[in-house]
Amino acid sequence: MTKLDARRRCALRWKHALVPNALRNVQDVRKMTNEFIIRRSDDMRAEITSPTHRFVVDLIARECSCNRWTLTGMPCSHATALIQEIRGLDIVEFIDPCYYTEAYLATYELRVNPLMDRQLWEHVELGYTVLPPMSRRPRGRPKKKRIKDPNEAKRTKRMHKCSRCGNWGHHKSSCKESLQAIEAQGTQALPKQPRKQQPKRRANNKKTTSTPGTMEGSQPHVEGGNQSAVGVSSQTLLSSAIVVVIFFVVFEVGVSE
Ligand SMILES: [Zn+2]
Ligand SMILES: [Zn+2]
Repeated sequence: MTKLDARRRCALRWKHALVPNALRNVQDVRKMTNEFIIRRSDDMRAEITSPTHRFVVDLIARECSCNRWTLTGMPCSHATALIQEIRGLDIVEFIDPCYYTEAYLATYELRVNPLMDRQLWEHVELGYTVLPPMSRRPRGRPKKKRIKDPNEAKRTKRMHKCSRCGNWGHHKSSCKESLQAIEAQGTQALPKQPRKQQPKRRANNKKTTSTPGTMEGSQPHVEGGNQSAVGVSSQTLLSSAIVVVIFFVVFEVGVSE
């Protein structure tokens, strides 16, 4: 509203028939016409030769072979040169009416009505209630994948280490490493941290299970807890189991003798 008004009031101050931008353009183009050679074929047509090109201007058709006049609606330098050559012609008549101040004023003639505060608006009773539209279920399978927020933290991908060759990024089943290469790598790839720990546990378990132990039943329950406590208890269990085994061997030897 204020912009429309500002532009309209600005345009009211313009004295020329053309909008200031168009007027400036005409003045610029006029400066370029000095070096043209004009060869007229009749009253309204001519060849305009510049140092580099030759164009044909037709004032009745309002066109020049450089096409600038047709494109912009403003006579090009060639057409301007011919218009200046012919007496009694005004360049403004050859300019598209959209560049006229009159046209500019007509554009901004429309006035937006000022509006009072919302609290002062008149309350209107419609006599009916506006309900939401009768919506149908949309086509296709409903989306299950949640649209993630752009700021949402992305899940970090965990790399998998191949248990065959020890390289990162693939599984044992899709391992393409040659056997020679794996053997060349030797023991470097194979002994990983979990593997080193596992044999110890298995050795302990085997010995405890092999012996007809006394505390066996209660032992596995403790194993889930504190690691140092488990280590100590398994060591004592192991030593006691060895003692029992030695005892049995000695006993059996004694019986057989
Ligand atoms: Zn031209
Ligand atoms: Zn591999």
